[in-house]
Amino acid sequence: MTVRVRIAPSPTGNLHIGTARTAVFNWLFARHHGGKFILRIEDTDEERSRDEFTENILDGLRWLGLNWDEGPFFQSKRLDMYKKAVQKLLDQGLAYRCYTSTSELDALREIQKARNEAPRYDNRHRNLTPEQESAFKAEGRSFVIRFRIDDDREIVWNDLVRGQVVWKGSDLGGDMVIARAAEDGVGQPLYNFAVVVDDMDMEITHVIRGEDHIANTAKQILLYEALGAEVPEFAHTPLILNQEGRKLSKRDGVTSISDFKRMGFTAEALVNYMTLLGWSPIDSTQEIFTLEEAAKQFSFERVNKAGAKFDWAKLDWINSQYIHTMSVEKLTNILIPYWEEAGYQPNRRNKQWLEKLVTLIGPSLTRFTDAVEMSKPFFKESIEYNDEAKAQLKQEESKKALEAVIEALHSTQELNENSSQDIIKHVMKAHNFKKPVVMKAVRASLTGETHGPDLIQSWLLLNQISLDQPRLQSALEFIKP
Ligand code: GLU
Repeated sequence: MTVRVRIAPSPTGNLHIGTARTAVFNWLFARHHGGKFILRIEDTDEERSRDEFTENILDGLRWLGLNWDEGPFFQSKRLDMYKKAVQKLLDQGLAYRCYTSTSELDALREIQKARNEAPRYDNRHRNLTPEQESAFKAEGRSFVIRFRIDDDREIVWNDLVRGQVVWKGSDLGGDMVIARAAEDGVGQPLYNFAVVVDDMDMEITHVIRGEDHIANTAKQILLYEALGAEVPEFAHTPLILNQEGRKLSKRDGVTSISDFKRMGFTAEALVNYMTLLGWSPIDSTQEIFTLEEAAKQFSFERVNKAGAKFDWAKLDWINSQYIHTMSVEKLTNILIPYWEEAGYQPNRRNKQWLEKLVTLIGPSLTRFTDAVEMSKPFFKESIEYNDEAKAQLKQEESKKALEAVIEALHSTQELNENSSQDIIKHVMKAHNFKKPVVMKAVRASLTGETHGPDLIQSWLLLNQISLDQPRLQSALEFIKP
């Protein structure tokens, strides 16, 4: 048997982290078994589906490296097939038209509520006579198509993550709506139905999706049986939770893959992290791996039942590992658009200078976006002192150190690694200062900050665009009242 799995996002929003993580598990499972990973866009909800969301989903999957083997298939283009399947169930008497009005359903719900019962349809139109049907039609009532669900039925499946799952037919809310009224009398198929027809048609062997679909699975198994198809295997993956242990939602801020991209995460780090959201490798201390490496050993035995807490610190750590092992050239190319967006005009510098800057700040980056703040003193014409730098400069020793540095610079032919070290040493000796005193004064003057990358290298880089002396002078002016 060839493993065939699918990811079936609805284009009613941008690619969500939960959907992307489900895609990761599908992809890993397919690759592990040498199977196929299929992409299906579930766009039957005409009102909420939008082309821009479809684009965002495709872009996101591509960016993450979750390449698919077949598709994208669009449900909106497959309506005929669903309608045929609805007709089949109608012909077999397994489905029927239900004319219960919204107000009747509301009234039913009120009664159930008063009795403290769970809301369910009471199957009242299950066995209408042709005369009753005609009467309803004559009244001008519209209909939905319902599929018969036997209350006594027990639905059991062996979930690849959760083990045996048992559902009672009586807990499925009564006969389920599979299609809504349409002119042709067959109706517009709904989610649970279209999914089954598609999964049958695409010969899906394993349905891997979020745990929030468990109740749908029970219903869908009944539909497979009714349509005479073999029931696939199911794996319900744990939800992604926020720090409070609730399902990660829009309220938690960032949830879509494009947001993570914008925030400066690498695709490789993000998929690496998503793989760990619910799964762990055989060597559970291993935290950094590629999708291909994870695929080699992926199995549902190592997928947790419990929800997976989203951990920003861990994602940041993984991201920094990827950034720190990136070549300077690659990292420079990635950072250029971030600098451009910040208005820094990196095109006014040569490649060598940019790469030196990246060598300098690269090891301190956690996200690409960090580069904007860290490279500010190198791109901006003027700098501002932060509070710590101000306090540093206001110290008497800083003034003396800066005056001495400027003086020493006058008699320096060329500022290079050696001469800059010499200047520092000279000033230390002349005033009997400890090294940090001199370094801190110079750093605060050059960058406006008290912390940052290697000072001598920063100084040299700044000197290449001759910003060093004016900045040392301005610092003195700032110090002098
Ligand atoms: N369209 C569904 C969703 O986005 C997919 C459900 C499924 O995988 O069957 O949640």
